[in-house]
Amino acid sequence: MSVRETRVGRREFGVRLAAAAPLAASTLTAERPEPRRLRPVREAAPIQARPFPLNRVRLLSGSCYTLQDRNRSYLHTLDPDRLLHTFRLTAGLPSNARQLGGWERPDIELRGHFMGHYLSACALMYGSTGDALLKGKASAVVAELGKCQKANADGWLSAFPSDFMQRLVERLPVWAPFYTLHKILAGLVDMYQHCGDERALTIALGMAAWTKRWADARSDAEMARILEVEYGGMNEVLYNLHALTGEPAHADLAHRFDEARLIDPLVEGRDELQGQHANTQLAKLLGAARRYELTGEERYRRCVEFFWQQVALHRSYCTGGTSNGQRWRTKPGILASELSSTTQECCCTHNMLKLTRHLFGWNPDVRYADFYERAFHNGILGTMNPTDGMTTFYVPLESGYWKLFGLPFDSFWCCTGTGVESFAKLGDSVFFHDERSLYVNLFVPARVQWPEKGLTLRQETRFPDDDRIRLELQCEKPVSLALRIRIPYWATSGATVSLNGEPQDAVASPASYCTLERTWKSGDRVEVRLPMKVHAHPMPDDPTLQAFMYGPLVLAGALGNEGISYEMMYADPVNARRGEGMRGQPVAAPELVAPSADPAEWIRSFDSAVELRDVEVVAGSPGDWSRALAEAGLTFRIAGQARPLSLVPLNRLFGQRYAVYWRVRQA
Ligand SMILES: [Zn+2]
Repeated sequence: MSVRETRVGRREFGVRLAAAAPLAASTLTAERPEPRRLRPVREAAPIQARPFPLNRVRLLSGSCYTLQDRNRSYLHTLDPDRLLHTFRLTAGLPSNARQLGGWERPDIELRGHFMGHYLSACALMYGSTGDALLKGKASAVVAELGKCQKANADGWLSAFPSDFMQRLVERLPVWAPFYTLHKILAGLVDMYQHCGDERALTIALGMAAWTKRWADARSDAEMARILEVEYGGMNEVLYNLHALTGEPAHADLAHRFDEARLIDPLVEGRDELQGQHANTQLAKLLGAARRYELTGEERYRRCVEFFWQQVALHRSYCTGGTSNGQRWRTKPGILASELSSTTQECCCTHNMLKLTRHLFGWNPDVRYADFYERAFHNGILGTMNPTDGMTTFYVPLESGYWKLFGLPFDSFWCCTGTGVESFAKLGDSVFFHDERSLYVNLFVPARVQWPEKGLTLRQETRFPDDDRIRLELQCEKPVSLALRIRIPYWATSGATVSLNGEPQDAVASPASYCTLERTWKSGDRVEVRLPMKVHAHPMPDDPTLQAFMYGPLVLAGALGNEGISYEMMYADPVNARRGEGMRGQPVAAPELVAPSADPAEWIRSFDSAVELRDVEVVAGSPGDWSRALAEAGLTFRIAGQARPLSLVPLNRLFGQRYAVYWRVRQA
């Protein structure tokens, strides 16, 4: 494949976005199977707080809504026939669709993985927005996958032949076939759960039956060796299937994918994660979380809680992201050596947030919600280019690099997949509830409907550009309820809460919930102020290496765009397997001189529109640079340096080099 054919320029990309491809009409009206008898399983573990179903939450106008909409547009541009191409060829069915590039290329062993992410993202997006057109497209794709499975005759469904699995048995090189099967299964289960697609469940059950026959023929010792190759969250999706069907066989099969080698040390409180591939383990822990929920076995809770503690508190950067070169290369708490262009794989953030939701459900402790906010702002929101909806593989944290985005039809990295899922469910963790409480965990403009209580709560805010949050309730009749509002760990400057204009005494301290318990009526309103200030976030193993935060936002020093071409901000379309690598060298960030111990005294916000003419850049084109800063809104200047330096939120910085961690010397 030549460069000319695959490189997508700015203009061409816009044209492609506008051209959504319809499926053949016949597939949309294909016969639907009869609903089956299911015996869904309730959790055996006590669940203290639950998220609302996606279709009860709607994002309101704001940056999250905009990013969700960019993602929705991208999903609409994906041509179902191109996605199906390798599935059809593998099943011996005709396809003349143009092949996709990147990790979906027909000679790449991971091909077909993005199909699963696509189905999950469409299902989640339907839940989040009610986009019936997207649901219809995804359901039509499911119907076509059903034809592929039927042609394969034995339940097998994949974009590669089933003899890839034999390579696992014979210990021959193969990328990660079960990883890919997990994505497809999860996509089908999501289509059933969010879109009510019965056919998707039927196909998933056929795949599970195939997997059971395959696994039944393997001894436990053989399976233990097979599980050394990345297998995604096969345990998680099979436990989820068990929860839907009530079939003990699905739980038994899921358990064959619970890896003792990983889980046993964690149960015993031993961190043996050094050297491990990070996201590989994260997906397995999601399976462990589901096993705890469905069986109540305490050892699985212990293992997940210990794992989360080690990764979130001792192996994560200031951003809430984790991994360097996709791995944990050090002992816990050693991060100063771990800054590179391939830090913080986005799949890891996506999966850590999923895991955090489970933990919050078991124990609604504010520290889980605080972590969620940190990783949500700094590890998810800033990984999408807001101009075109493309997402990153990593968030580079070595100074002087820039964000590298995938191409719409020629990348399809793992993180492209988790990216379309993340941005299809941005509203899933804003609110939680138990029988008689409603938690407000994230400050995002959104509305939640709670029909069991006859209640709608509307959150309006421009946070973090503004520290005010307004909550208004509409109730069919007065309802007794505890409203629990998260007061973040960073709100050390005095959070305030008022109810219908009356200041409330019982304001909670940072890192706690402010609980307002009363009988609520329509029109009741709560106003919250969460003043933010600049604070330092030093490396745990080197306090002279510091990042700066403003509220939950990690600030990035804008280092200009010298030496970065437009092409260098996007993936290399030629090298499909390694196309995620940066092309180009970093520039050094200056050492900072700290005039005092409190960075709030020397890192000050300024009006970028008025003052930009006074600011120098370290390198690069001042024109582009200053425009990017003006668009970022929240802008800060570092005083007392040899050269003026500016900071903007990392999640709003695109198209230029940046620094997150600085070497800081006391004046
Ligand atoms: Zn990834």
